[in-house]
Amino acid sequence: MEKTVLLKDGYIVLPDQTLTGSIRIKGEVIEAIGDLSPQEGETVIECAGCYFLPGGIETHTHLQLESMGTVTADDFQSGTRAALAGGTTTVLDFVSQEQGETMAHALERWHGKADGNCSIDYGFHMGLSEWNEDLKGEIASIVEGGITSFKAYMAYKDRMMVQEDEIYDLLEASDRLGATVGFHCENGLLIDVLVKRERALGHLSPYYHQITRPDEFEEEAIVRLGTVNQLLHANHHVVHLSTARGLSAINRLRDRGVRTIAETCPQYLLLDSSRYGTPASESFEAAKFIMSPPLRERRDQEALWQGLADGEIQFVGTDHCSFNFKGQKEMGRKDFSKIPNGAPGIELRMILLYSFGVDRGRMDINRFSEVTSTNAAKYFGLYPKKGILQAGSDADIVILDPRAEWTVSSAALHENCDYTPYEGFSLKGKIRDVFLRGRRKVASGSIVIDERDGRYLKRDLPFMDIR
Ligand SMILES: [Zn+2]
Repeated sequence: MEKTVLLKDGYIVLPDQTLTGSIRIKGEVIEAIGDLSPQEGETVIECAGCYFLPGGIETHTHLQLESMGTVTADDFQSGTRAALAGGTTTVLDFVSQEQGETMAHALERWHGKADGNCSIDYGFHMGLSEWNEDLKGEIASIVEGGITSFKAYMAYKDRMMVQEDEIYDLLEASDRLGATVGFHCENGLLIDVLVKRERALGHLSPYYHQITRPDEFEEEAIVRLGTVNQLLHANHHVVHLSTARGLSAINRLRDRGVRTIAETCPQYLLLDSSRYGTPASESFEAAKFIMSPPLRERRDQEALWQGLADGEIQFVGTDHCSFNFKGQKEMGRKDFSKIPNGAPGIELRMILLYSFGVDRGRMDINRFSEVTSTNAAKYFGLYPKKGILQAGSDADIVILDPRAEWTVSSAALHENCDYTPYEGFSLKGKIRDVFLRGRRKVASGSIVIDERDGRYLKRDLPFMDIR
């Protein structure tokens, strides 16, 4: 008989309740949950006082991505190792199709980077840098192959930006297959105008990045996307929502019957634009926070926390896109528009949300598990294999100790980046153990099975009925 493992006496976090009890793992799956007594020969792990959570699902990463003349600091090895240490057991990374390239070719490139290199299970979204008839001809075979979500950009003029007629056509083609499309919502034409204007004025420090991307540009793009989608009612979502204005636009669209799913990120919940300093700042430290969309105001953070708790925002990804400060961010010392955009976050996603969300009373533990795991599993076609603690599901389990207290230091993280935007943050709660399909890969906060045994996940069609 196959040996079983009993995770004994913790708080089992389910979507609508929390039970005190145990979880039995057999092989790669959960065999039972509830009031269980140890069986003969079984490995028993004491978990009193800890939460049992479904393994985290990270919805938004750019690992090993070539961008702005350089490549991200984290590849699939370091990125997924960091994710594992932080309680994430599934990552969804963006394939980046280049202009003129087939989706099939881009996907092959991504498998070349990821296969055999991941410490956790992984799947892909198909990121598009253009939209045309050739790509439309390929979309059915991509969905057939288990990639059921696409992504398009309303920003990055000439490099990736799509406009309303293309958005309509893409959404229609995707929806006909039952797939979904995520959109980067910012007005790319106007960003370009402002970047040119600031540079012409000699405004070249990192401070000016945010000036070229005001919150109205996000709101406007969300409304424009929703206006297109009012004609189609196609599955879609807004990626990395960053503003109160954007959220209220989504809510107004919902009132008009346009169903929009929204993702936000820890940086928009926890960091604000004071990190960019002032127009007179001599320091280049602000480059660490150059990302798109940029950091916003405190009132935006509060609106996003509220939206997350209330069911207006459905899940949290990090947009992990790491560049070292030395040598990479520094490429833009003389011109903010040359600073590689992005920041690390994959390792701290779960614990930041726990510490500032649950421990600070902004959401309960059940909502926490929904926005870090269950909703993403449903929307991205992985449920109930992933995203829930129940008999028959993969034994992807996080044991979180809510009593621990610690301070973030980039030196102690597994991310391969020379800084973290969360340096010095005081956190409550720690990821104690992590199981990937029944294997205890993290024990007492340390990676104990350091193997690239992550599997590629072919995904089902999205399930839209999440809150
Ligand atoms: Zn992104």
